[in-house]
Amino acid sequence: MPFFRTASPVLLFASAVFLSVGAAPIAQNVYTQDMDRSIKPGEDFYRYANGGWLKAEAIPAGQSSFDNRAILTERTGERVRSLIQDTATAKSAKGSLPQKVGDYYSSFMDEAAIESKGLAPLSHEMATITAISNKASLSAYLGTTLNTEVDGLIANADHVFGVWVNQNFADSKHYVFHLLQGGLGMPDRESYLDPSPKMAELRAQYQAHISATLKLVGTADAESKAAGILSLEIRMAQAFAPDADAVDVFKQNNPWKRTEFDTKAPGMDWNSYFTSAGVADQSDFLVWQPSAVTGISALVASERVDLWKDYLRFRLIEHYSSVLPKAVAAEDFAFYGTFLSGAQRPPDRSKLAVAATNAALGQAVGQLYTEHYFPPEAKARAQAMATDIITAYRNRIANLAWMSPGTKQKALTKLAALKIGIGYPDTWIDYSTFEVVRGDAFGNMRRAEAFSRSYNLAKLKRPADIGEWRIDPQIVGAVILFSPNTESFSAGLLQPPYFDYQGDAASNYGSAGAGMAHEISHSFDELGNIYDDQGRLGMWWIPEDADKYHAAAAKLAVQFSSYCPFSGLCINGKQVQSENIADIAGLLTAHDAYILSLKGKPDVVIGGLTGEQRFFIAFSQRWRKLQSEAALRQQVATDTHAPGEYRSDTVRNIDAWYKAFDIAPSDKLYLKPEDRVRIW
Ligand SMILES: [Zn+2]
Repeated sequence: MPFFRTASPVLLFASAVFLSVGAAPIAQNVYTQDMDRSIKPGEDFYRYANGGWLKAEAIPAGQSSFDNRAILTERTGERVRSLIQDTATAKSAKGSLPQKVGDYYSSFMDEAAIESKGLAPLSHEMATITAISNKASLSAYLGTTLNTEVDGLIANADHVFGVWVNQNFADSKHYVFHLLQGGLGMPDRESYLDPSPKMAELRAQYQAHISATLKLVGTADAESKAAGILSLEIRMAQAFAPDADAVDVFKQNNPWKRTEFDTKAPGMDWNSYFTSAGVADQSDFLVWQPSAVTGISALVASERVDLWKDYLRFRLIEHYSSVLPKAVAAEDFAFYGTFLSGAQRPPDRSKLAVAATNAALGQAVGQLYTEHYFPPEAKARAQAMATDIITAYRNRIANLAWMSPGTKQKALTKLAALKIGIGYPDTWIDYSTFEVVRGDAFGNMRRAEAFSRSYNLAKLKRPADIGEWRIDPQIVGAVILFSPNTESFSAGLLQPPYFDYQGDAASNYGSAGAGMAHEISHSFDELGNIYDDQGRLGMWWIPEDADKYHAAAAKLAVQFSSYCPFSGLCINGKQVQSENIADIAGLLTAHDAYILSLKGKPDVVIGGLTGEQRFFIAFSQRWRKLQSEAALRQQVATDTHAPGEYRSDTVRNIDAWYKAFDIAPSDKLYLKPEDRVRIW
């Protein structure tokens, strides 16, 4: 099929790195001081809108770029850190969310307590591993490690298998047990199988790391055990799906009945496995990488039980290294931080503690965050903007030239069913059964995992809930879940300079609105074409739609290929084409939505700028970015998103931009009406 394209059921546009330096709050979202009005908008719109900012700012030391996202990530990270640290020193009622958040953080920070316990927290589970004596008890133990740390984005579990509870690809009303591969300590399958000297060196370093870790816990004969563990992981990797297949949704969609596991994947005692995993009565599974389930199950039978026990002991230590004594964490950092990532020093412990608290209690921290920084007025105003954007899409889709009438009907049905989440979820996760004990970092992490597991497995017994959030409100990001048909825009993203609930509407629609509308367009483009209105797998365009779509898009690739940041280095228009189409869709639809929001009244003039002008300036300011030459070259070579300056030039395709700034045929950015790309 000409329009075949694969995609993960989840698209994340997020940054979860929490940095430490605060930035001054920006109260007013018309940033005239960031412009350079000596430049004509029709000559260089990006520098007209951003010239002041580009001159005033600098790339922070040690970074390769600086942009709005970096500012927001830093500011939000600092706010989250302060909130969490404040709860750690407050005396909160036992069982309250602040008590859980504060005690989780302070326990993680209490390195003296962690040190004094030594490896004792592991002793119970170590004894369980030691007691494994045959295939049945091995299978039963593996069942207890089935975890929920995977989702549509993280497709390799830390343990042998992972479960993601999400709706069925064929049945939107019910959740299903998505079973994912896992159990490898290195980043991907190729790390184990690639014969190149570089990868061979990686494996040698990993084996040394295994050996060093085993020595730290007093294991005799650590070197030969490390060699055995690596060889077992290599055999597991051989069973893993190739990386491209592992994330291909059409290859992930393999319904297996419980009764089929014994014949399709002999070796594991599946009865013992599923019983100890707590899902003995589960009848239906979606097996994402069947080769991994079959291959690893076979290894349960073919490999020595003692080798499995060595592997399980090592993986147990690895998994909890962040809450074990310093020597374990230091060895872990030496391999993963220094050797694999090139970091010289481990991050500050408080950063790790904030990240760990967010991981365990994401929506509890999210409640604290939104109470402080995202009031109901912000949610209401952003929701009104989303409603205008949906109305605008309804009109645009009805008039699309490349969509056939039948496809338009399907698109409109999908649009009507699309659930947009703004700021934070309508219903928060109930953490009341999750106990957090001050001074017990290890136990808290265990209980967090157990809570997550039972929370997720309980969903299997309920109808699917389209309102569920898969991103925390304090993340600077948005997430599209094609399955189900939802998109969520976090409170962390909906703040200045993108969005100011007390600020100028024209700027909000041009910035956050265009971003929101960009993401929504993906539900109807070639990515979204894979999933229907209920998020079920199946393509709803007809081949003629795709042909006309590609014909309309071809001009856009040519337009972007003409942009050359360095002599001899131009944009690859095809590589960035689908994101540029989404930019055009987003900008046009956000502009329609802005007009709708005015309800026929003229907008005010602010700082000498009309509403139309502020709308487009805010759009351009959305893309401002300082970047090292190396980073820019890297982006041009590999990224599916064009550099910000050229994304800002999307305005050249929009008739309203010409009118707003009186762009004349003699202006450098002018495109003849017939050369403007009209795909949406
Ligand atoms: Zn996009």
